[in-house]
Amino acid sequence: MRYSLFNLIGQTMRGHRGWPRAWRDPDPKAGYDVVIVGAGGHGLATAYYLAKEHGITNVAVLEKGYLGGGNVGRNTTIVRSNYELPGNEPFYEHSLKLWEGLSQDINYNVMFSQRGVLNLAHSDGQVDAFARRGNGMRLHGADAVLLTREEVRERVPALDLDNARFPVRGGLLQPRAGTARHDAVAWGLARAADSLGVDIIQNCEVTGIARENGRVTGVETTRGHIKAGKVGLAVAGHTTKLAEMAGLRLPVESHLLQAFVTEAIKPMVDQVVTFAAGHFYISQSDHGGLVFGSSLDGYNSYAARGNMPAVEHTIEAAMSLMPSVGRLRLLRHWGGVMDMSMDGSPIISKTPVEGLYLNGGWCYGGFKATPGSGWCFAHTIARDEPHALNAPLSLERFESGHLLDEESTGPFPNTH
Ligand SMILES: Cc1cc2nc3c(=O)[nH]c(=O)nc-3n(C[C@H](O)[C@H](O)[C@H](O)COP(=O)(O)OP(=O)(O)OC[C@H]3O[C@@H](n4cnc5c(N)ncnc54)[C@H](O)[C@@H]3O)c2cc1C
Repeated sequence: MRYSLFNLIGQTMRGHRGWPRAWRDPDPKAGYDVVIVGAGGHGLATAYYLAKEHGITNVAVLEKGYLGGGNVGRNTTIVRSNYELPGNEPFYEHSLKLWEGLSQDINYNVMFSQRGVLNLAHSDGQVDAFARRGNGMRLHGADAVLLTREEVRERVPALDLDNARFPVRGGLLQPRAGTARHDAVAWGLARAADSLGVDIIQNCEVTGIARENGRVTGVETTRGHIKAGKVGLAVAGHTTKLAEMAGLRLPVESHLLQAFVTEAIKPMVDQVVTFAAGHFYISQSDHGGLVFGSSLDGYNSYAARGNMPAVEHTIEAAMSLMPSVGRLRLLRHWGGVMDMSMDGSPIISKTPVEGLYLNGGWCYGGFKATPGSGWCFAHTIARDEPHALNAPLSLERFESGHLLDEESTGPFPNTH
């Protein structure tokens, strides 16, 4: 059933008793043309675009827990394309363009809100760097506006511009960037993929990757062996574990990142604001809570929970940027497992194992990439070769040295 005003009125008259399930709950079949591991945003988007763009519908998405229980439902929902390097910017801009039509495309309101993302600059050097980044973005067809300190003050009155420890010198604004409702993204993509015939199988953990003569033949799961012509990994924080099952050691580490939400208040921050003197980002949810986060917890782990020093560090950053935040009560905080690559950029790629494809290394920024990543990964799997947009995001770059070190922090994932 398509969601529409007409259907909403019809269901209202019937007391909302006629809505069908948003997606089926099928048992796994003996085999599929393509098996995607991981029902997060990237796995679901890949399955959707495999069916929609390439007509490949004999597809299963296998999820060890429940759909959307991973990072897709744990992030701070920031969507942007303000990258600098030629290998990154066209990919993220393509993703942003897909976001702009996503709700209509999948017939599900993902609440994409183009409220703008404002990066604050705290030194003359940062203003110069942002000017360079903005020019690079515009050369790739993205939008970017350099703001003066007074323009920043006008846009975000809650900032402490006069007494702050780190003075604000200006900012780089991407007006088309913003936020989306993360759970809706998972649910909408699941519903859209399911409606095209994709089987989404929850509570089905992949425990092994079956191979014969260097080629993938299927996966071992907690619900039995499933044959597969091709297997795509989209397991975010568990990327290294799954790759290990196929004998691959990846340039990826798993780290923890926490997110925070306060009690709901009246509108206070009407765009996403990032703080470049530390590492901190804040926005306000439609419900009214301030949603924010900062840096990784600083140690490797697969446990989706964080430690107290990271909480203190984050709150300190919040206080130096917007002291009024200190009067709010923190409602919840939670953690997710981040797949940090060694140059800070993602991997959407074929692997040395024939028929096995890899989507991972998303670091802090995979949510914004969800539609673009699924679109490019589907292309790579269907055609057995990367699209021009994800060719620079190959696994081989770590062998050849063509790294995409956007942050210039080298192979130190904790500093990306
Ligand atoms: C606190 C936090 C804040 C963030 N903020 C932002 C942000 O503001 N903007 C942004 O762009 N990005 C952000 N990110 C990053 C972003 O959320 C991730 O990069 C992105 O969601 C990862 O892709 P995914 O949605 O497919 O991952 P996930 O939702 O984690 O999906 C992977 C799935 O694979 C499943 N899986 C794992 N192992 C197996 C197995 N063996 N068998 C079957 N299934 C398996 C998992 O259960 C999981 O559901 C943030 C992340 C965190 C943790």
